[in-house]
Amino acid sequence: MPQTKQPLYIEHTISICPKCIKRVPAKIVQDGDSIYLIKRCREHGEQKELYEEVSDYHLKKRLYDKPGTDCKRQTEFNQGCPFDCGLCPDHEQHTCIGLIEITEQCNLCCPSCYASSGEGRHLGLETIEKMMDLYIDSEYEQAEILQISGGEPTIHPQILEILRLAKAKNFKYIMINSNGIRFSQDLEFVKSVADIFQGTGLEVYLQFDGLEENTYRTLRGSDLRNVKQKAIENLTSHGIAITLVSTILKGVNDHEIGAIVEFGMETEGIRGLNMQPLALFGRLDESVDTNERITLSGILKRMEDQTNGKILMDDFIPLPCNVDRVAITYLTQKRGKWTALSKGKNLQSFVPRIKNTFAFSLDDTLEKDGDCCGVTCKCFGPKKLADVLGKAAKSASDKKRTEYLNKDLFRISVTSFIDVYNFDMKSMKKECVHIITEDMRKIPFSSYNMFHRPGIT
Ligand code: SF4
Ligand code: SF4
Repeated sequence: MPQTKQPLYIEHTISICPKCIKRVPAKIVQDGDSIYLIKRCREHGEQKELYEEVSDYHLKKRLYDKPGTDCKRQTEFNQGCPFDCGLCPDHEQHTCIGLIEITEQCNLCCPSCYASSGEGRHLGLETIEKMMDLYIDSEYEQAEILQISGGEPTIHPQILEILRLAKAKNFKYIMINSNGIRFSQDLEFVKSVADIFQGTGLEVYLQFDGLEENTYRTLRGSDLRNVKQKAIENLTSHGIAITLVSTILKGVNDHEIGAIVEFGMETEGIRGLNMQPLALFGRLDESVDTNERITLSGILKRMEDQTNGKILMDDFIPLPCNVDRVAITYLTQKRGKWTALSKGKNLQSFVPRIKNTFAFSLDDTLEKDGDCCGVTCKCFGPKKLADVLGKAAKSASDKKRTEYLNKDLFRISVTSFIDVYNFDMKSMKKECVHIITEDMRKIPFSSYNMFHRPGIT
């Protein structure tokens, strides 16, 4: 009898059974060109879930892994991960992005909403300030990125006061996570936001899922193409930086990945693009075949194919703060031609110098000379940081460097979150996007949406 080929064992981890939500032992294996999680639940048997579509990308991730950064904890060991959030003493990464959901209300009712937003309440200013202070204190006064989210944060009646407050707290960057409706319709509001920030420290994380009508009708419930276009025009004319954020669902908009990238790079005012495979929590759960889902490496592969090789999978590196969940590249422009900064460079040797951060500019992503791993320069070999950064790093003037980094750099990142199907505990413990909750905890984004969001049973 012919033998079926056994999947190739890679490592053990702990996962979750999606049926009983209990911890179960799991193996990560390579089967063909893809990576799978094989879990065994005593009650519900063996389950095999797609983990990464492209095994080569998965196998290179570990080369970029580095230890996490410490921060203060809010909870203690009790039931074990993922039920002790958080952050509990077992979490292995600090907060790269602290997210405050200032309202449950939204002016859309997207079928794909992870928060199931729509109706609900707004948080009061006093509570929001306490949450900001918790974030700052837990990061030893060095909190980097505050993401103001919802629901739709721009419809909070005190949104301008919240933004002024956030600015006064000296976060390095503030993001507004928005569907763009208010930015497209209310020029007075856009101007007020621009006046608060005067061109620095703010980025609008603009939901932008594609260029086709069907994409918006399926993911958002209505055709929002004109809304997105108008929001981009209004924000750009007021000097507010934009990162496009695309949720990708296989069979709906995965064929648009290349077109979205080209649109972002060609459109004035857009500094970067973040793509996210749709995670299976919120309204869309149950309706997606989990072994037909798109993954982080699947997005990179389609990007390479759909940009005709202008952007390659190899241009991306797994971000060392959480190699399983974030891939990133920076492109630089010369006479209208974009080239990945990583092209032809051995970035592995720079890993000790890449900070555990998701900050906006390349400058912030890299450690300053001499404080990388305590082994100054030895970890670099013959190459220096300036060789990778090129012109940006060599300019003597801070202002010129910043202008160069902002105008001639384009950042593309792909972020994937964990759900009960692809749950991998070691990756969960490294997650660095944390929701700051009203009861003064910091809960990893994926864990919050799987287990801790109010209303989840
Ligand atoms: S996800 Fe992190 S904070 Fe939550 S229980 Fe696990 S280790 Fe602790
Ligand atoms: S996904 Fe965003 S825009 Fe859509 S309903 Fe949820 S909060 Fe609103």
